[in-house]
Amino acid sequence: MKRLVLFDLDGVLLHSKENMRQAWDVVLKKTSIDQPFEAYFALIGRPFKDIMAHLGVTSDVERIEKIYMTASFDFLSQATFFPKVKDTLEEILDMGIKLGVVTSKDAPRTKAVLAQLEIRFVSIQCPSGRFRGKPAPDHLLIAMAEAGEDPADTLFVGDMETDWQAACRAGIDYVHASWGYGEPLKSVPALECVSQLPNHLK
Ligand SMILES: [Mg+2]
Repeated sequence: MKRLVLFDLDGVLLHSKENMRQAWDVVLKKTSIDQPFEAYFALIGRPFKDIMAHLGVTSDVERIEKIYMTASFDFLSQATFFPKVKDTLEEILDMGIKLGVVTSKDAPRTKAVLAQLEIRFVSIQCPSGRFRGKPAPDHLLIAMAEAGEDPADTLFVGDMETDWQAACRAGIDYVHASWGYGEPLKSVPALECVSQLPNHLK
């Protein structure tokens, strides 16, 4: 059995699409960006700056990021946890398995959101500017180091292809959250809802 389960946040634990849409609307109003929300949303899972680079936005990125983050924080109450998330996390903890989060969301919003769960996470990894974001394996490796666990004893639960790529590069098993925002991945284990996870771990 695994000893550590790491979760992506958006689309896995947190249903945040509407929050993102509202924050992106503010970016469209306050900047010269004209990319539709769908173009932004198709790239989520990477750090914000990397998404901007993929969209061809090369100037004023820090100001745009600040506008987005501020708006997202203002609308944070509209993001809710998926059904059964807290119960499932408690069940996994009761199995003696540690929990962690590896997300591309910035630290202030991530910590504000996770505080509502009142669950102990041994490691919470957000973009730091120091290490590469997903699909690079850096933050998964740091989370394992902080938890004191090996790749062989770790599982990552994500919802985007970038999550799966990061898990492969970190050398850890991966399971795809079909309830999330990404497309199904061929030949990759998937679950229909978060409450199936404890059985998957047995
Ligand atoms: Mg996600």
